[in-house]
Amino acid sequence: MVSKLPHIGTTIFTVMSKMATDAEAINLSQGFPGFKSDPILLDLVAKFTKEGMNQYSPMQGIPGLRKILAEKTKLTQGYFPDPETEVTIVSGATEALFCAVSAVTRLGDEVIVLEPAYDSYEPAITLNGGIPVYIPLNSGDFSVDWGKVSSAITYKTRAIMVNSPHNPSGYVWTENDVNQLAELVERTGILVISDEVYEHITFDGKPHISLGSHPVLREKTFVCGSFGKTFHVTGWKIGYCIAPKTWSLEFRKIHQYVTFSTVTPIQFALAEYLEVPERYLSIPDFYQKKRDLFSLGLSKTEFEFTPSTGSFFQLVSYRHLSTMADRTLAERMTKELKVACIPISVFYSDKRDDKIIRFCFAKEESELNEALNRLSELH
Ligand code: PMP
Ligand code: GLN
Repeated sequence: MVSKLPHIGTTIFTVMSKMATDAEAINLSQGFPGFKSDPILLDLVAKFTKEGMNQYSPMQGIPGLRKILAEKTKLTQGYFPDPETEVTIVSGATEALFCAVSAVTRLGDEVIVLEPAYDSYEPAITLNGGIPVYIPLNSGDFSVDWGKVSSAITYKTRAIMVNSPHNPSGYVWTENDVNQLAELVERTGILVISDEVYEHITFDGKPHISLGSHPVLREKTFVCGSFGKTFHVTGWKIGYCIAPKTWSLEFRKIHQYVTFSTVTPIQFALAEYLEVPERYLSIPDFYQKKRDLFSLGLSKTEFEFTPSTGSFFQLVSYRHLSTMADRTLAERMTKELKVACIPISVFYSDKRDDKIIRFCFAKEESELNEALNRLSELH
């Protein structure tokens, strides 16, 4: 049997979460919130389920959710995508990313990926006949080296995949980053697939700038988002893609044969829930408290780190503590210290081991405090 993805195994998230469960460890590995969503949202789902909204929704998503999402985009990002032709509801950002890559990538096309990169990008590119071209982010703060990106563009480059706020580093793009990309796109005509699942999780007043808000990028970008991330319901697997009309048309041709449509009662619930902007505008403050608590606690451990500026992840370096491979350290921490994390070598194409691990701090205060207690024992 010839595998289409010979070097891909089970994702690190499934591996580490299972290891955490088996070891009865605190699971700060896979990124999912350890607390409940707003009961109002949960009740809305129950209501619409009981009212019988349980059959297929329209392929592109229910009109009410597309419209309110466009209004939310206007409020938070200053532009109003056409709900009819530019907004599609999908089964999670993972689907949005896959369909976007599939819509643009032709056999032999190069797609630029900035690494460390979320692990679903590469298989999406290779399954669609594309060639991922990796550009490392700057070591230290994980900012983008625009000179390197620019020199990686060839006549075969079709698109670039970007992610801000960034998983795993938490780097949040600046206005300069957005302008540099816009200049590149204008000059070369490449397309952009923008993973913005952590759009509402930024700290210290730093704004998230959606690429859709830039007039040049708007014409060339698939903005991929996740309601699961935003409303602490990752298991619901519901997200969206905003793209210009012609590209949304191509995107929908694929979406309709990957999943066809997305879970109906949850779409109705989200459409009603999003009517109150405070419900998403309050998220940065909510997570800021967790980021602050976690980084204060970490400063009392032996790890070296810079506080995360976005997402619900914190990277820490243990280079000065141990020469152990990051996968081995993650396994030992899970089994012995009973705190699970993600080794970040898995986010690099060459599995480069910089002795950095990732913690997810989207957890209850008590769980974070207990994890920090255990981490302070590591010398
Ligand atoms: N992109 C990034 C950077 C992520 O961390 C995740 C994990 N949620 C996803 C995409 C996938 O999002 P979803 O669960 O909505 O498919
Ligand atoms: N995005 C999550 C993370 O980075 C995991 C999602 C998944 O398990 N596929 O941890």
